[in-house]
Amino acid sequence: MRLSLTDRCDLACVYCRPGRDEAYVERCLDVDAWDAMVAGLVESGVRRVRFTGGEPLLHRDVVEVVRRVAANRAIEDIALTTNGTRLAKLARPLHDAGLRRITVSLDSLREDRFARMTRGGDLAGVLAGIDAACAAPFDEIKLNAVVVKDENDDELEALTRFAWERGITPRFLEVMLIGEGAKMEGRVVSGAAMRRALSHLLEADEARRDPDRGPAKYVAARHDPRLRVGFITGTSDTYCAGCDRLRVSAEGTLRPCLATNDGVPAEASARAGDARGIAHAVAEAWRMKPDGATFKGCTEESASGVSIRAIGG
Ligand code: SAM
Repeated sequence: MRLSLTDRCDLACVYCRPGRDEAYVERCLDVDAWDAMVAGLVESGVRRVRFTGGEPLLHRDVVEVVRRVAANRAIEDIALTTNGTRLAKLARPLHDAGLRRITVSLDSLREDRFARMTRGGDLAGVLAGIDAACAAPFDEIKLNAVVVKDENDDELEALTRFAWERGITPRFLEVMLIGEGAKMEGRVVSGAAMRRALSHLLEADEARRDPDRGPAKYVAARHDPRLRVGFITGTSDTYCAGCDRLRVSAEGTLRPCLATNDGVPAEASARAGDARGIAHAVAEAWRMKPDGATFKGCTEESASGVSIRAIGG
């Protein structure tokens, strides 16, 4: 289950948002409502959650929300995905609150390119955040880079070496044709092409998924089997058929699919502390989940009308 703590973001990546001036939801769930939401999710059988957004570190109580979820004995695994802009300050408090796995999005190590791809982001701040995460130390740090043709597709090796030197697992993502990404069909670099670009560093074996760990497929480094690179091919292979994810958006709506605007409201149940009502909404959202055999999310026309930032990427 992916929990979107806020739909706000302090970056505006070119494949995610049209600019910085979109409207945000006014009523993000607070700590108590998230507590109730998670109790309802647990009642439905949820055991693994990832905080995302928007940018989850912009929720003013993110550390407290993480602390409470980490203290919930029924939850077996928590993780968080961030753009890293506030991580220099928050890595240690998040670790102290019980977070052990973190993914940082970083598309470029070049200041000017990073600023262009994020529409004004400051690379130095994100690198300081990654340093803080390494020092915390988290059990697992992953780095997500979306690869855009004729922009950062010449940086796969540099990003891989940067990550490996720090014990981080780099993962390269195809641009998904959702929301803003739907305008970028000509800029998609396929997972196969990414793999070819890194072939001198990687074993020739077939890329493999980690069981129950999402759609990324990994290949080991030639020189050290402990190091890996992941590929997330959300466009050349939408993996809809095997998708077992649900999302909760920032205002408490259960979302069955990243590529549609469908949802089941559960805000009132969360604010009332009604775990049963939430479990009911989960069951309903699960029933609405598109059938992977007939629906290929990212290739549907409807996917261009949704916002990954708002649904919770
Ligand atoms: N703000 C956090 C961050 O930057 O990681 C979490 C939310 S962000 C929507 C989650 C991930 O989705 C990021 O790694 C981002 O690069 C990725 N993403 C957003 N739009 C995408 C698209 N059209 N195709 C592929 N990945 C996308």
